[in-house]
Amino acid sequence: MAEARAAGLKLRAEGGLLHVRGPLALEPIVRRLFQAKIEVLAALQDEQKFAITPSRPCRLCDGHYFWSRAGGAAICSRCHPCPSPDLVAEEFTITATPSKEVNRLLERFGWEPA
Ligand SMILES: [Zn+2]
Repeated sequence: MAEARAAGLKLRAEGGLLHVRGPLALEPIVRRLFQAKIEVLAALQDEQKFAITPSRPCRLCDGHYFWSRAGGAAICSRCHPCPSPDLVAEEFTITATPSKEVNRLLERFGWEPA
């Protein structure tokens, strides 16, 4: 996968299908990718999941609830409530990150923000 990207191929997993875009000259690499399709798909899905999961509260409202469309980025539930439950592919709740208030208290008492 790293080799394919270095060569200029774009990889994307969507609905169980592997999408590869790039110059035709790279076809040998593409063939190898499709031979390992299951593994490549799993790795891509992990990456995408990691990429779209918010790691901190909304920077506008400090909200801890997010939702996303299939394959989309996380959207703050308070700033941009989902218009229809059908659109929600995933919901996220951030619990590990302390709120601004907690961070302020921690700072006041000499704790480093986690
Ligand atoms: Zn927000």
